[in-house]
Amino acid sequence: MLDKYKSLTRRQTLCRDRPLWASIPGGTVRTRRRTPETEYDVIIVGAGISGALMSHAFIGKNLRILMVDRRAPVQGSSLASTAMIQHEIDTPLHVLQKSIGVRNAQRVWQRSAAAVKQLGRLVHDLDLKCAFQAKKTLFLAGEEYDARALSGEAEARRIAGLGVDLLSEETLQERFGLNRTAALESAISASANPAQLTAAVLRNAGKHGVEIVSGVEIKELKEFDESVVLSTSQGALLVARSVVFCTGYEFLKALANKRQKVVSTWALASRPRLSRPDWLDKYLVWEGSDPYLYFRSTADGRIVLGGEDDDTEDAYKDEKKRKLKSKTLAEKLGDLTGISIGEPDFEWSAAFGVTPNGLPMIGRVPNMKNVFTSMGFGGNGITFSQIAATLISSEILDHRDEDWDLFPIF
Ligand SMILES: Cc1cc2nc3c(=O)[nH]c(=O)nc-3n(C[C@H](O)[C@H](O)[C@H](O)COP(=O)(O)OP(=O)(O)OC[C@H]3O[C@@H](n4cnc5c(N)ncnc54)[C@H](O)[C@@H]3O)c2cc1C
Repeated sequence: MLDKYKSLTRRQTLCRDRPLWASIPGGTVRTRRRTPETEYDVIIVGAGISGALMSHAFIGKNLRILMVDRRAPVQGSSLASTAMIQHEIDTPLHVLQKSIGVRNAQRVWQRSAAAVKQLGRLVHDLDLKCAFQAKKTLFLAGEEYDARALSGEAEARRIAGLGVDLLSEETLQERFGLNRTAALESAISASANPAQLTAAVLRNAGKHGVEIVSGVEIKELKEFDESVVLSTSQGALLVARSVVFCTGYEFLKALANKRQKVVSTWALASRPRLSRPDWLDKYLVWEGSDPYLYFRSTADGRIVLGGEDDDTEDAYKDEKKRKLKSKTLAEKLGDLTGISIGEPDFEWSAAFGVTPNGLPMIGRVPNMKNVFTSMGFGGNGITFSQIAATLISSEILDHRDEDWDLFPIF
């Protein structure tokens, strides 16, 4: 085996404490404990939202598909997600244009919008029970992006054909009772229960013949001309024409470099049926500050909020810090909206992968022909997972997507 690919992916605790979704039924999937065969067309490593959407993209193509995970399905970052499903990615369009050029930045934003719509269709067409709700987004002016920056952003988005309204301070106060100098209001967003969403997509994949195996770790890989051989923690050798690593923040160690880093983030959920303004059930809210606050409601009237990201990798494991961060998040929400969440029902902290420009890396693993990876980084991991599923499945199925090169792995 290649030394470089020994001890293949990072291993870490992805989430501390129990996220809200772990207490709600519907987030589990039946799996096998052993791989039934040794040869497949495609092997997907990782049974989170990225692997789930990847497996869905291969349904109906007459391929033998295996998915393996060292944990049970939906026990990675997908269980910790706050699942604000947005086309508004972390890096505003007018900023992204400066680093990757106008056309590429527009394509990233347009692809993100298309991905959110595609997810909505998937949930609708398969009637997936995952508390999916179409929502609008309010992006509030903050310390990092003020009213002037938001005005530039609105213009950039309009040029890219993305609908957006710039709200003045007065309008924001009048319609939402929020005190900020400006905001952007846009459609094409959604929220869901991420565990139920992932599990429902996986169960559907299982029904269509995808073999899902848990408790099996992929330890090593070697590529030959037309096949890839994987060794497992059970001592088996698996052979596939193509392999896709959907291992989230436990990315391939060989791809660890300066462009990607794991930081810490915090989230909490209030009790259900919390008193809240009517408009909140139709919106996801976030702000142009660093660190930022974001929040939304759930179908049973909880408020889920998060943010306060910390640049260090281990901070999320610190119990004292968690209490402090929860308090800060609740205070920020209270200051902005007047909502008092009281004692939260759930508080959790987690590892969070980021890149400097907020974009994921999607593509072929360097120097490999049939090994791919999708690293759905940052606050838009679910949207990026959908894009990755489309791009990588098309490449494996031999119809290259026109945006194949949009999210390079450097
Ligand atoms: C607190 C928090 C809030 C977030 N909020 C949002 C949000 O509001 N909106 C949004 O879009 N995104 C959000 N994200 C990001 C999003 O949740 C992630 O991008 C997404 O869940 C990653 O999914 P994944 O399938 O790539 O990874 P995971 O869910 O972590 O799945 C990867 C799987 O790979 C398995 N694995 C790893 N290595 C191996 C190996 N060698 N062999 C076998 N199995 C292996 C792991 O066991 C794991 O189960 C948030 C993330 C966090 C932590």
